[in-house]
Amino acid sequence: MRKGLIVQKYGGSSVANVERIQIVAKRVVAYRKKGYDLVVVVSALGDTTDELIELADKINAHPPEREMDMLLSTGEQISVALLAMAIDKLKFKAISFTGSQVGIITDTRHTRARIVKIGADKIRQALKAGKIVIVAGFQGMTPDQDITTLGRGGSDLTAVALAKELSADECEIYTDVEGIYTTDPRIEPKAKKLEEITYDEMLEMASLGAQVMQARSIEVAKKFDVPIHVRSSFSEKPGTMIIKEAKKMEDVVISGVTLNKNEIKITVCDVPDHPGAAAGIFKELSGGGVNVDMIVQNVSHTRKTDISFTVPRADVSKAKRITRRASSKIGAGEVIVDEDVARISVVGVGMKSHPGVAAKMFDTLAKEKINIEMISTSDISISCIIKKKPAESAVRSLHEKFGLGK
Ligand code: ADP
Ligand code: ASP
Ligand code: MG
Repeated sequence: MRKGLIVQKYGGSSVANVERIQIVAKRVVAYRKKGYDLVVVVSALGDTTDELIELADKINAHPPEREMDMLLSTGEQISVALLAMAIDKLKFKAISFTGSQVGIITDTRHTRARIVKIGADKIRQALKAGKIVIVAGFQGMTPDQDITTLGRGGSDLTAVALAKELSADECEIYTDVEGIYTTDPRIEPKAKKLEEITYDEMLEMASLGAQVMQARSIEVAKKFDVPIHVRSSFSEKPGTMIIKEAKKMEDVVISGVTLNKNEIKITVCDVPDHPGAAAGIFKELSGGGVNVDMIVQNVSHTRKTDISFTVPRADVSKAKRITRRASSKIGAGEVIVDEDVARISVVGVGMKSHPGVAAKMFDTLAKEKINIEMISTSDISISCIIKKKPAESAVRSLHEKFGLGK
């Protein structure tokens, strides 16, 4: 008798080489032997996606996004085929599919497409035939049959969306750390593994730079209440459950510290202080597809003001070009681009009812002689833009000051 359906996702480092693919195959087969149906989502081998991006850059610095998706989706096609072969070698039945083959239909936003529908008939048929189903993560297809990708880290989204669509009993995300930690364990070895974390906190941590889960996958998990188990593909230990409500002690104020080095800061000087000036800049940027994040505008005493904002590092040249053009259109001054910045943030639902978190954060940075260039807050996080160099040691200091260590 079948025990239930498990969706498992293995990240790039979990399938980085032949030996690791064989280990994954053995783990999958072990679950199969216990009587589970399995849908396995796989990322591209190791750093394949980064390597493909570099390769494209050597050919064309501004490649058409449709062609970028044609290129990047090949990474996952390699890994699903290899995993299916490894499982076959263990004498179990497996079949691999691309995203388009299993009917993952997306919108047409190439390189960051959104899933609009999942057919999944092919998956159901293969499961019925007793096969282990292996699906390429990170990819889908437009209604016009163009291949799309779901944004970096998008295999997490494939797994969560399939778990929802197939009403899976479990959704496991296998990665190279043992779960979600209070901060990146590669930056702070004293980081503590969390038994559980809420969707809201995980979403905030992911959006603020904790790459362990793709932010959009958590949005979908929250929307459809899909519990996620993040754990290591190198050990048998239980990892972290991402769930609606964590049953933790009331006095937990901060759950984690994050670092994001993927943003840069742009300042437009001498912006005329009249209605429509800011709109003149940000409308152009959004028209050009540049996602603006933190925005700070100084109070003006002189009828001119400075506006600073952050944009993704990947968009720096586009953002520079558009901002310069917009600045001259509205009669503003110089545009200064600062690439030497990082964002550090503290995250926790407890801060809603505990004052003093901001003061403690600023005080910790001051003691480290770190200058704060920008500040932004949400209900459950506080972020500061600082220089890149002291950022990792700032993470460790905040981690200690907020009592998160082991
Ligand atoms: P995968 O290839 O499995 O998708 P990723 O590299 O995308 O793995 O994510 C795992 C990495 O996320 C870890 O190696 C770790 O360095 C990093 N990370 C950042 N913040 C955290 C955190 N709070 N908890 C756990 N890992 C984190
Ligand atoms: N291979 C893709 C990436 O590196 C998708 C993923 O790993 O989730 O972003
Ligand atoms: Mg990932």
